Amino acid sequence: MPRPGPFVLALAGLCASCAIPIIGAHGAERAHERRSRGSALTLHAERPDVPATAERCYAELEGAGVRFQRVAAGRAHGVQMPLQLAGPVGGVAVWPRGRKAIHGILDCRLALRLVSWAPSLRRARVTGLEHYSIYRPGARTPRRGRVSGHARGLAIDAARFHLESGEVVDVLSDWEDRGRGDAPCPQRSDEAAPSRLLRGVVCEAVEQRLFSVVLTPHHDRAHHNHVHLELKPEVSWTYVR
Ligand SMILES: [Zn+2]
Repeated sequence: MPRPGPFVLALAGLCASCAIPIIGAHGAERAHERRSRGSALTLHAERPDVPATAERCYAELEGAGVRFQRVAAGRAHGVQMPLQLAGPVGGVAVWPRGRKAIHGILDCRLALRLVSWAPSLRRARVTGLEHYSIYRPGARTPRRGRVSGHARGLAIDAARFHLESGEVVDVLSDWEDRGRGDAPCPQRSDEAAPSRLLRGVVCEAVEQRLFSVVLTPHHDRAHHNHVHLELKPEVSWTYVR
């Protein structure tokens, strides 16, 4: 295992309090993490900051050139900083597959992470990101029944990546090597271009620590057709499977 530098943290294991494996953490979670067990993966980036207030977040999003409308709290129960996109994010259009407006509501902090992810997507010639949903009021995690990131507008189920060539790369049909429990990253040497693109953009987001929970088709049957990318503003670990 490489020696962790100041900005390079390795260690992964089972977080007893959150009951899921964790990869990378800093600050107060380090000691907790040292007690954890499991295989290691090194991440090279510090987790980007999360704005503390809605006003600050909306201002940052405006500063990033994203057009959006604020959503009244009463229309998005459970979402702390709700908004609806009114234009692309960093040159990438983002829309719900079924075009149900409510599924497109998102927390401003997730929107900022999409801004940060957009350069990776653009480098891969992605101009559109079609998702199954972001906001699902009252959504719970399937096994443990906890409040899902979707209930908070902090998770996106990325399904189809539209390229500037008109081609569409679909997690359902294009993600190769779906070995259950296999590490989704890094890149395989023998995969077709669409799979390479999918894995590339997802793993760049992981490397940049943009999301706290990343669940791919390797995780379980429920994720055979999308990648769940969730921001948990209150934690500094990353869980990838
Ligand atoms: Zn999801």
